[in-house]
Amino acid sequence: MRYLWLVLALLLCGCLSKPQVGAHQLWSGKDAAEPALHYLGVGGWLLPWHGEGVLFAPSFTNPALAGITGLPPVKVKSDPVKIQQMMPDARFVSMLLVGHAHYDHLLDVSDVIKNQAPNAKIYGSETVVNILQYQFRDDPQRLSRLHNVLAQIASVPDMSRPGDSGKWIYSDSGYIRAKPIRSMHAGHIFGVDLLPGIYESPPTEPLNNVRDWRLGTPVAWLVDLLDDQKKPVYRIHYQDSAATPPWGFPPREPDGKRIDVEILCAGSWHQVYHYPAALLDFTKPRMVLIGHWENFFGNKPDDVRIIPGLDLKGMVDIVRRHVAPKTPVYTPLPFTKIPLPAPQASHL
Ligand SMILES: [Zn+2]
Repeated sequence: MRYLWLVLALLLCGCLSKPQVGAHQLWSGKDAAEPALHYLGVGGWLLPWHGEGVLFAPSFTNPALAGITGLPPVKVKSDPVKIQQMMPDARFVSMLLVGHAHYDHLLDVSDVIKNQAPNAKIYGSETVVNILQYQFRDDPQRLSRLHNVLAQIASVPDMSRPGDSGKWIYSDSGYIRAKPIRSMHAGHIFGVDLLPGIYESPPTEPLNNVRDWRLGTPVAWLVDLLDDQKKPVYRIHYQDSAATPPWGFPPREPDGKRIDVEILCAGSWHQVYHYPAALLDFTKPRMVLIGHWENFFGNKPDDVRIIPGLDLKGMVDIVRRHVAPKTPVYTPLPFTKIPLPAPQASHL
C-alpha cells in the first residue's frame, strides 16, 4: 500500500528533469589536486588522505521497477558488474562509514568491501551491522571488520539534557577519525518514511525486497583529517538524509575548530522543516557540497537527471542564503572531484 502511494506520487510529479538549477553550475571537474572529494553519486563520497581514506557508502546498482528509469523498484539485487565498472579502486580506504541501511545506501556495500575496498573497516548502526553480518555469515575475517557505533554516538542536545558529545573512532594509521551523531531520516512522501524499522539481530533470509532494507538508527558523521601531530586539518560533516533540526547536528568540539566542508543530502529536503537552513546557520561551513540529488531509479551515468519531484534549485537558493558570501557551493555530477579549500592558517 505504501509503495503504491510512492509510485502514484512520482507519476504525479511528472517526468524526470534535466539537471538545470538556474545560475548555479553543476560541477563537472574530473581532475583535481588532492586533497579532493570524489563524488560517486547518491550518498557515495571517496576521500583519500595520507595514504588511507574515507568512503561514505556508495550506490551503483540503483535498480528501477521493470527497468523503467524513474520508477522505484520493489525487488532489489546488487549488480557486481555495474559496481566493477563504476567503483574506483579503493584499497587505500581504511574507514567505510554508513549513515543508514536503506537499499540505496547499503545494497552495494558488501560487494564493494569484497572487491574494491577490502581493507576498510565498516562503521554503522545496529541494523547496518546486522544486515552485513548476515551477508558475511561465512566469512569470519570480514565479520571482524564490522563495527556497531551506537556506543560512540553523539546525541542531540535538547532543552532538558546537555547531550552526549560522543567518542571519536580512529583509523589504524591514525590520520583519520570519525564520530557518529544520532540523526533522523526525512519522510519520502507526506513526511512518512516508507521503509522504517531496525534489525536487532541478523536477518535470516536474503533481503530481496526494498522493504527488507530497514532504516535502522540514522547516523550523521563528523570526520577529521589529521596531520602528523594528530591535529585536525579538515573537519567534515556528512548527512546522508535530510533531517529535522537539530538531529544530526555536530557536537561542539573543545578545540573550537570550525566545519570546513558540509555535505548535504538533497533527496527529500523539503519533507522536513528548516533543512538545510538551520544546519548551515549552526555549522557555518567553509564549503558546501550537495549530494544525493540525481535520479537513482534506473539512472544512466551518461544522462543524469534530477530525482523525480525534487526542487533542487529551491534547495540551492536556501543554501546560498545561509552561508557567508563567496562560500563555494558545489552540486557535483557523479564521478567528479571537488578540491578541498586550502587549510586554515593554523594548519599551514
Ligand atoms: Zn534512506
